[in-house]
Amino acid sequence: MLWQPSLPERYQKMTDDELAAAITARKAELGDRLVILGHHYQQDDVVRHADFLGDSFKLSQLAAEKVDETGAKFVVFCGVHFMAESADILTPEDVTVILPDLSAGCSMADMAAYDDVVDAWEQIHGVLEADGFVGRVIPITYMNSSAAIKAFVGEHGGAVCTSSNADAVLAWAFAGGSEPRRDDEQIKIMFFPDQHLGRNTAAAMGYDPVTQMCLWDPRDPRGAGGTTPDDILRSAVILWKGHCSVHKLFRPEHVDQIKAHDPTMQVVVHPECMYEVVQKADHAGSTEKIRKLIENAEPGSRWAVGTEVHMVNRLAKEAAKRDVYVRILSECQCLCTTMYRIDPQHLLWTLDSLANGEVVNQIKVDERTRKWSLVSLQRMLDITGAAKPAPDRAAGVAK
Ligand code: SF4
Repeated sequence: MLWQPSLPERYQKMTDDELAAAITARKAELGDRLVILGHHYQQDDVVRHADFLGDSFKLSQLAAEKVDETGAKFVVFCGVHFMAESADILTPEDVTVILPDLSAGCSMADMAAYDDVVDAWEQIHGVLEADGFVGRVIPITYMNSSAAIKAFVGEHGGAVCTSSNADAVLAWAFAGGSEPRRDDEQIKIMFFPDQHLGRNTAAAMGYDPVTQMCLWDPRDPRGAGGTTPDDILRSAVILWKGHCSVHKLFRPEHVDQIKAHDPTMQVVVHPECMYEVVQKADHAGSTEKIRKLIENAEPGSRWAVGTEVHMVNRLAKEAAKRDVYVRILSECQCLCTTMYRIDPQHLLWTLDSLANGEVVNQIKVDERTRKWSLVSLQRMLDITGAAKPAPDRAAGVAK
């Protein structure tokens, strides 16, 4: 996690209303030069100033489109570090991406350190080669990973996925990825950094979580990620031991309690929740899928939602107007504490600095990392048939 110096004292002394008025004024002053992005899990006092609200990849794409349309030069990403990296990768070179608080990291992304991933990759290939394995390991990384891991995946024949398209990306990889699978080849997938999204997705495709998957824990004191050679050889999917500190708080017993209390309640959870929770839920899906389900829910219906509390509260407020009842799946404090570090004070400080000609907290991805990250992102876009990244960044990138 990066270190964020304290803000000048005057920001801490401002009231909520003063902060909101000052941010609005700075935003007007910066005009079309500025785009503010707000993630679904962000607090309301920040989201109210965002030009776009969405999930991490959608926001980066919207920022790239907006930059193309208006020539904006500054993107302030009210999210976490890996999201700002993605925005920097997908926007043109002369656009500056800013994270208002440098300590807003993502605990899941931090669980897959580059050196640990390289070490695991080499050890796994050592095991496979010793057994005469014929085939390939294709690395897949969730969008919620550092640019360094996205680049590693791009350089080793893999792709990025989101929680909306993980099934399509895994299907692509099992079919051989960018080179069709030969008849004599076996394909294994190494999935970073969220074990739960990897397990839930592969299980929904018919792979058995016990016999066809194993878990690589880079911190296991026994070495080899806590695996045996047999674990590696028998597994179609090798899951990295990472998780989201928010979604891991939802437990299977929370679903049981909700259903026991009100059998009419429908449960929808994010696939970053553990397998046992997803198995008990009525629906599982990305933040966008959850949002659409609730927005299209029948009046009178009742929903328990297993995702970050700020998003659930916003959905509940809107849904109540349509006589749809929405509550969080558990009363635990399921909030993304790192994202919560981005507050109106830090947002105002970044805008004040820009208005005074100073860039603070710029997130910049180096050229080589950007090049290979774009390869893994482009493969995902090709698999899902989605729009291309910003043209000047996509140019010259190998498939
Ligand atoms: S909710 Fe979880 S995965 Fe998302 S940014 Fe926070 S810690 Fe990371």
